Amino acid sequence: ERWLFWHRRDLRLADNLGLAAAAAATPAVTGVFVLDPGILEAPDLAPARLWFLAESLRELAESWRGAGSRLLVLRGDPVVLLPRLAAALQAPVLAWNRDVEPYGRERDRRVAAALQASGRRVLVDWDQLLIPPEALRTGQGDPYRVYGPFWRNWRGQVAAKAGLGSAMAGGLEPVAAPSGLRDLGEQALEALERSGAGPLPLVQPDPATGLHLPHDFSGTDLCPCRPGEAAALEQLQSFCDGGPLLAYEPGRNLPGEAGTSGLSAALKFGTLSPRQAWAAAQQARALVRSTEAEQSITVWEQELAWREFYQQALFHFPELAEGPYRPQWKRFPWENDEGHFAAWREGLTGVPIVDAAMRQLNASGWMHNRCRMIVASFLVKDLICDWRWGERAFMARLVDGDLAANNGGWQWSASSGMDPKPLRIFNPATQAAKFDPEAIYIRTWLPELRHVSSADLISGAIAPLERRGYPEQIVEHKLQQARFKALYAALPR
Ligand code: FAD
Repeated sequence: ERWLFWHRRDLRLADNLGLAAAAAATPAVTGVFVLDPGILEAPDLAPARLWFLAESLRELAESWRGAGSRLLVLRGDPVVLLPRLAAALQAPVLAWNRDVEPYGRERDRRVAAALQASGRRVLVDWDQLLIPPEALRTGQGDPYRVYGPFWRNWRGQVAAKAGLGSAMAGGLEPVAAPSGLRDLGEQALEALERSGAGPLPLVQPDPATGLHLPHDFSGTDLCPCRPGEAAALEQLQSFCDGGPLLAYEPGRNLPGEAGTSGLSAALKFGTLSPRQAWAAAQQARALVRSTEAEQSITVWEQELAWREFYQQALFHFPELAEGPYRPQWKRFPWENDEGHFAAWREGLTGVPIVDAAMRQLNASGWMHNRCRMIVASFLVKDLICDWRWGERAFMARLVDGDLAANNGGWQWSASSGMDPKPLRIFNPATQAAKFDPEAIYIRTWLPELRHVSSADLISGAIAPLERRGYPEQIVEHKLQQARFKALYAALPR
């Protein structure tokens, strides 16, 4: 009996819980990935994400060969193709790991229904979260809306699970990649060619020959996120083994330094599992002696928990994806000036820290977290532009673009989300002075302003003769802040 394992955002063999469960049942497992036009042809698919996906899939196909079986890559609608594939291979079971996004959940529901209608089984597991969303409830039995109490409950459950050993036994210890799998025989391969309504749209019948997914992302050398399972593990090791993790606080806030892990795309595409990230942090913790280093590790763990907070929020409140969580924001009179928005998107606002950040995004497909908060606040509170414009613009460029984290980050910055603090307005100059005091980051991404003094790069007060084509500030922070507050105060509640 041949089982199928459907990869989605878990592009790895090691510590893949759904795959491990399938391989525990039978060595005859075949991997499948579906290039879904619903995702790949969406207007907000960033070229950087296509690059990351293509490279990771290429490596994944090789890993499947190494494990003795193969990865089939199909192009089309999974709801149509997967039941056909299962029928062609007479596979009784299709296994996968669950998703939190509304699109994925609806797709999975339809795939499961179609398979079950033809008498097949589905085997589903939670893999992309340390603690599944259903397990996290307040004392009243409600899902969490506030991060603080979420973190305390989540951390307690993580500690309890850590005592249970292997992830296959409900613990957190990563599971090894399957090996000694059995490949499809000649007959099955022929059946694929002849299957049902004509040949299945296999993108590459033999994964060893490689996968061709054209993309026009030119920032591969600038992007800190490296595709593929092997690179993710290497990146994790160099971050944790005596690396930036131990000085994460305050290093995480300095965009001019490589103080963060750069693992966001790996965690989004699942070339790395959250358990692998967690285990590496625990190993580092066992070795450190200073309270500063211990504190740094805790702060990094809190970031992993933010990732899970936003995922459980999207799971329980799918309406977050549609608009503001706080209803009064639905009536906010956004100014939505197209010219201002274009200047923001292209890094031409005349505010150096904002422009440097947007240029980093445009060139590398990635942006430092501190800068994501600065540019988001600027778009919403200084340019008075609907945060959903920014959310879409980020998705169209980010290598790690992820609905839950991106929507969560934008709603947090816009003050429209679950976050209890009502209005948060960043002053770009104050932020730059605090977090880029030598203007290292600003000079990196705005090379045309390298000659300008750090003080002027931070304040944005650049003399006309020194500008050399760099634009003047399109708005004045103090003025806009007052206007924004007045609009907010006038909102009907
Ligand atoms: P590290 O500092 O090393 O953190 C480790 C991991 O924790 C990250 O890889 C990420 O998976 C997770 N994480 C860290 N901070 C957050 C956070 N605030 N929310 C959720 N998860 C977090 N992150 C995305 O992965 N995808 C997005 O589309 C995304 N959009 C964002 C939009 C805005 C407006 C803001 C303010 C933040 C956004 N973030 C997003 C969160 C954060 O900026 C990135 O996760 C982080 O910069 C990635 O860098 P790193 O891997 O070096 O992170």
